[in-house]
Amino acid sequence: MNTSKSQALFDKAKKIIPGGVNSPVRAFKHVGRDPIYFERGQGPLLYDVDGNSYVDFCASFGPLILGHSHPAIVSALTEQAAKATTFGACHEKEVKLAELILKAYPFLSHVRLLNSGTEAVMTAIRIARGATQRPKILKFEGCYHGHSDGLLAKSGSGVAELAESSSQGVPNSIVSETLVVRFDSIESIEKAFKQYGKEIAAVILEPIPANDGLWVPLQAHLEEICMLARLHGSLIIFDEVISGFRVGLNGAAGIFNLKPDLVTLGKIIGGGLPLAACLGTERVMAQVAPLGPVYQAGTLSGNPLATAAGIAVLTELFSKPPYELLEKRTKKFVGRLKEEVLPDWDFAQMGSIFWMSPSKLTGAFPPVISEENKKAYAKFFGAALEAGVYFAPSPFEVGFVSTAHTDDVLDETLNRLKKCRQ
Ligand code: PMP
Repeated sequence: MNTSKSQALFDKAKKIIPGGVNSPVRAFKHVGRDPIYFERGQGPLLYDVDGNSYVDFCASFGPLILGHSHPAIVSALTEQAAKATTFGACHEKEVKLAELILKAYPFLSHVRLLNSGTEAVMTAIRIARGATQRPKILKFEGCYHGHSDGLLAKSGSGVAELAESSSQGVPNSIVSETLVVRFDSIESIEKAFKQYGKEIAAVILEPIPANDGLWVPLQAHLEEICMLARLHGSLIIFDEVISGFRVGLNGAAGIFNLKPDLVTLGKIIGGGLPLAACLGTERVMAQVAPLGPVYQAGTLSGNPLATAAGIAVLTELFSKPPYELLEKRTKKFVGRLKEEVLPDWDFAQMGSIFWMSPSKLTGAFPPVISEENKKAYAKFFGAALEAGVYFAPSPFEVGFVSTAHTDDVLDETLNRLKKCRQ
C-alpha cells in the first residue's frame, strides 16, 4: 500500500502541530505506525490522499450514523453556508434543534447547545454543583467524559475514592473534588456514597461505557446506582455523548427506562460538525445564566451551520428510525467476524456499537488488555488497513456501523478481512 503522501504530510505536520495531530489517538501510536491522511468520505467509505480506500468502522469515533456525506446533511449545510455560518445571536435553527433533541428525552425540559462533548460535560457538572450547592463529583474508572481538568482523574493511591490527576498540567488540588470508583462494584459505589454522600453533587456515568472497550451494563446495576444517588440527594448525569441517538431514539436512558437529571450529548447530534448539548430538568436548568447564577457561554454555541447539520440528521433518524436494522446488521457482522476472521478474540456489541477484544472478556470493567494483546490488535489493525478496512486506531476504542454499511458492504468487508485471519 502506497502511503507516501500521508507520510509527507505527517512529517510536515510534526514540525508545526504537537505530535503532528490535533487529538492524540489520531497519531496511531497504539497501533505502532504513522497516521493516514484522509481526503474524502462517501457513505461507508473513506479515501486517503494516496488514493487508497477503506470501509470505515471508526466513523469519526461515533458521529457518522448515516455514513459520510449523507445527501440530507450536505444539502442542509450547503444551503445554510450560503446564508450565514454564525450570527453570535439568536436564530430559528437553534430552537428547532432544541425541540428535536428534547423529543428524545421527554422527562427533561431544557437544553443548552455547545460545541463539544467536553464542554457539555463541564457544563452539566457546573450546573449540578450549582443546583445542589455541593462540591464533589463521583465518576467511574474507565468512563471518559472529555478533557476538562476536573475529569482528568484516576483513582488515588491513598484513600481509595479520592482521585489523583491523570494528566500533567492538572494539579491534584483541581481533582480533589472528584471521586473515582469502580463501575462494576456496587460495594465501592455504596461506600463512596456512605462516606461522602452529603458532599456529592452528582454521579456521572456513561450508561453504556464505550471508551474503554464496550461494557454492556445490567439494568439492575444501573438502577442501583441511580437509587443510591437519589438516596443521598445527588443528581444523576448520563453522559450519552456516544450512546445518544446511537442505541435508539431515546438513548440509553430510554433503553434502561431511567430518568437522569442531566444528559450530555455530542457526536451524532452535530451530523459531523462541532455540536453538543446539555439537557436537564426545569429545576436544574434554571440555574444556568442568564436565568440563574451558573455561568456558561459560547461564541459559536448553537451556530447556524452546526444546527443545520444536526436538524438534518435528527430529522432523518426520527422519520426513518434505523435502529432495528442497524442492530441486526451489526450482530450478524460481529458474529461472522468472530467466526471467519478472529476466532480467538472476544466481542461485545450493543446496537450498532461493537468492540473487538484480543483479550478474554471476564465481565469486569474496565477490562484489562495485556501488552501482548495490544500488539495483536496493532497487527490486525495494520493488516485490515492493507486490506481496505479502517478500524479505530486503538484497542480501547469501539467500532460503529452506519446506515451506509449495507449487507453488501459488510459482506465485502468480511471478504477483505479473511486474509487477516489470526
Ligand atoms: N463523553 C463521552 C462519553 C465521550 O465519548 C467523549 C468523546 N469521545 C466526550 C465526552 C468528549 O467529547 P469531545 O471529544 O467532543 O469533547
